[in-house]
Amino acid sequence: AKDAGRGRAVLFDERMRERARGRMRLRAELHRALERHEIVVHYQPLVDLRTGAMVAAEALMRWQHPTMGLLAPDDFLPLAQDSDLIIELDEHVARQACTDIGVLGRALGRGLGAWVNYSARTLASPTLCKVTESARSDAGLAPEDLTVEVTENALLEDLATTGRALQELRRQHVRLAIDDFGAGHTALTYLTRLPVSAVKLDRSFTQAIDTSPVDRAVVRSVADLARALGLVTVAEGVETGSQLNLAAASGCHLGQGYLLSRPAEYGSLIDLAHRPAID
Ligand code: C2E
Ligand code: CA
Ligand code: CA
Ligand code: CA
Repeated sequence: AKDAGRGRAVLFDERMRERARGRMRLRAELHRALERHEIVVHYQPLVDLRTGAMVAAEALMRWQHPTMGLLAPDDFLPLAQDSDLIIELDEHVARQACTDIGVLGRALGRGLGAWVNYSARTLASPTLCKVTESARSDAGLAPEDLTVEVTENALLEDLATTGRALQELRRQHVRLAIDDFGAGHTALTYLTRLPVSAVKLDRSFTQAIDTSPVDRAVVRSVADLARALGLVTVAEGVETGSQLNLAAASGCHLGQGYLLSRPAEYGSLIDLAHRPAID
């Protein structure tokens, strides 16, 4: 039995080493992915819950890997987040999103919002505000049509540094949304001390809204508070019609989720944008 145990330990060791080698290979490939044009942007609509109209789209990063296929952020972002590579990736996505959404907004003849995700490390980059400003203005996107999404956890990492970046973006009239609201160490002081325009309720709330009266009460209070502060509330992760109806009835302004649309390529977003709103 002892020998068998040792055998398993050796096997386990081998597998760990193989995994580590795989991660190192992927990390090295990720460093070249940008110049190889393998980093692509998918878009998920944000929909006005009263009218059904698409008012914005969130940019979600994907890696079109040459052999592994389309990779989601969970598969590769952790490999980038401990180095400055994440800054380059985030800035690339922001630039692409401003360009794409700017073009689509002009085609539709109305303002369309581009919502982009910035990680903690990206927010701490000294050149981020300049880069964001040029991405936006080069694309001809109005400042209020660009929203930067930041998770509560990213804010927590270094509130002094991220706070400065957010104030600077605000001076450029770029908007700020708190992402995954309620999922982390939510401090309501973020809402009053930082120049926030929107809260995105974590999908765990949206998805409990039709089964749990407590969660429904939480959603309603957050939406009430947000409204009182002049903020927009977004219900993330809407998957069913009843979640959609309850999110609207609880005071959420915008919805996002598989029911409305899965994240999709820019081409599909264009098709969706030209379809008449459902009511
Ligand atoms: P997030 O910002 O909270 O984005 C929402 C995630 O939920 C996306 O996963 C989206 O595909 C997924 N989602 C949307 N609707 C539904 C739904 O109805 N049900 C369920 N179960 N999921 C839904 P995705 O694209 O895999 O992204 C995961 C996370 O990766 C994002 O979470 C965000 O934190 C991060 N991320 C994505 N793109 C970027 C980026 O460009 N930069 C940075 N820094 N982070 C990014
Ligand atoms: Ca987000
Ligand atoms: Ca989120
Ligand atoms: Ca999330």
